[in-house]
Amino acid sequence: MPGCPVKWITVCEIARAHRLSVVEDAAQGVMASYKGRALGTLGDLGAYSFHETKNVISGEGGALLVNAPQYVDRAEVLREKGTDRSRFFRGEVDKYTWQDIGSSFLPGELIAAFLWAQLEEAESVTEGRLRSWQVYHDLLAPLESQARLRRPVVPAECTHNAHMYYILLPDSQTRDGLMHELRGRGIYAVFHYVPLHSSPAGRRLGRAARALPVTDSVSGRLLRLPLWSGILPEEQATVVSAIADYLQRG
Ligand SMILES: *Cc1c(COP(=O)(O)O)cnc(C)c1O
Repeated sequence: MPGCPVKWITVCEIARAHRLSVVEDAAQGVMASYKGRALGTLGDLGAYSFHETKNVISGEGGALLVNAPQYVDRAEVLREKGTDRSRFFRGEVDKYTWQDIGSSFLPGELIAAFLWAQLEEAESVTEGRLRSWQVYHDLLAPLESQARLRRPVVPAECTHNAHMYYILLPDSQTRDGLMHELRGRGIYAVFHYVPLHSSPAGRRLGRAARALPVTDSVSGRLLRLPLWSGILPEEQATVVSAIADYLQRG
């Protein structure tokens, strides 16, 4: 589930066996953890996104977490447009020069100030989202007992950040029909994602070892429910009763 990591031990074992570095896409993982360790700090490198669709935002932008010491120096040069300007400012070299590839990745002050305020509120934002997440989870329990849908499962070792709430429908026709029904009632629910291995670029650039039937099936049956900071429980109840109407009718 997003904001909730994969079986991390397995990833690390595979990486160690093949002497690979692990780059952790923790884009949606700010404030979530695995066995008490923050997401983004598990891989050799970790990436957070502060895109406007995430929990903590600066419009566009993100952060690279450099967890493996051997990458620190190069990361600093890449960030400084390929130069050793940071070392120059620390007085470690007497002039700064072009060293490597790089670019202008830094946010300007206004965006940084906006993000700072967001980060100061990160705990309350996460707590609020977790409360809203739980509202859906409780309201949808009866429909799961009737086997009309399945709710997300959070493994015991994960602390998630309520980045999204989704339901799994029995088949893709039901999912598409429900999505259409909700649209008709002014409720914008979307599905996510088209699996990478079946996307045009994924087919061109990627390689799946075998068919991925579980991924294909889940992506056809998943529906995300509206969830934002400050959504009201009454609004969530409206969403859930629309879902119940549709599923219990069919
Ligand atoms: C949002 C997201 C990204 C992209 O983040 P940007 O900040 O827009 O580059 C990458 N991976 C995952 C899993 C995401 O959710």
